[in-house]
Amino acid sequence: MSVDGVGRAAPTGATRVAAVIGDPVRHSRSPLIMNAAFAAAALDWVYVAFEVPAGGVPAALGGVRALGIAGLSVTMPHKDAVAEAVDELSDDARQLGAVNCVVNDGGTLRGHNTDGVGFVDAVGAEAGASPAGMSCVVVGAGGAARSVVLALARAGAAEVVVVNRARERAEEAAALAGDRGRVVAPAAAGPVLAEAGLVVNATSVGMQEPPGGATPFDPAVLHAGQLVADLVYQPLLTPLLAEAGRRGATPVDGLGMLVHQAGAAFELWTGTPAPLEAMAAAARRSLRPEG
Ligand code: NAP
Repeated sequence: MSVDGVGRAAPTGATRVAAVIGDPVRHSRSPLIMNAAFAAAALDWVYVAFEVPAGGVPAALGGVRALGIAGLSVTMPHKDAVAEAVDELSDDARQLGAVNCVVNDGGTLRGHNTDGVGFVDAVGAEAGASPAGMSCVVVGAGGAARSVVLALARAGAAEVVVVNRARERAEEAAALAGDRGRVVAPAAAGPVLAEAGLVVNATSVGMQEPPGGATPFDPAVLHAGQLVADLVYQPLLTPLLAEAGRRGATPVDGLGMLVHQAGAAFELWTGTPAPLEAMAAAARRSLRPEG
């Protein structure tokens, strides 16, 4: 990386390229977070966003190979299609059938999924807690919920209860935790939510809501001594986290997972420890209304 006339880092002929593919992708915060990481680690890398429409994954991965793009992040709607198209899969990516990070190792594309480990790392960093031995409840059963269920089980959770509107999706998600996974219907979830050590909102309920807006379940069951995590990060203080804090529970916002899953990808691509503080600062800046 050289420095241009106004002091910005500028790519050179030797600069390595990483990218995110998705559709839509122009709103993605990943370029801000990853370029801040490369700058903080003084690595000659640059990160860009490519809008790839549904069905475009085989061509995009051909481009990654042809151009020697070193690392790829994958977002909606391509996580499942990339899992089917790469050369090798990590255990997590195989179990989830979804890839959010690809490493290009000399033309061999390896798919990983760093969302779940990013969540568990964020709970450790933000709340100083480990899910080991805990009763956990995951509300939601989409892609994010599935990665969290698998990661909680891998981290030694005593049980992982999945609560979701669509029962079949809940059963599929709970199965990722093996014999420690079970399903409880939303209407009957009050007691398990009250007894849990860690409650995770992995639905999209709460996005863009003002304080006092929608929560994914009645928060009256929450109390001191619980961790309550929300994967939603816009706004950072969701109505659920506001209610949890009011009742004495420890809130964990969605920014930590965003940063830690990106940090895990950074380390897979570069083999260098992720500069997490610089990444978190960039993520926070990107969440400001003008960001
Ligand atoms: P997804 O695959 O579309 O799943 C959405 C989930 O939300 C489903 O379980 C769905 O239930 C549930 N849901 C949606 N509207 C609901 C409502 N009104 N009431 C109850 N349940 C509702 O989405 P995803 O990719 O898993 O993402 C889920 C959330 O996590 C999003 O807000 C996303 O931004 C966030 N996320 C954050 C991070 C991070 O780094 N912090 C990473 C990934 C995702 P049904 O199955 O019953 O339809």
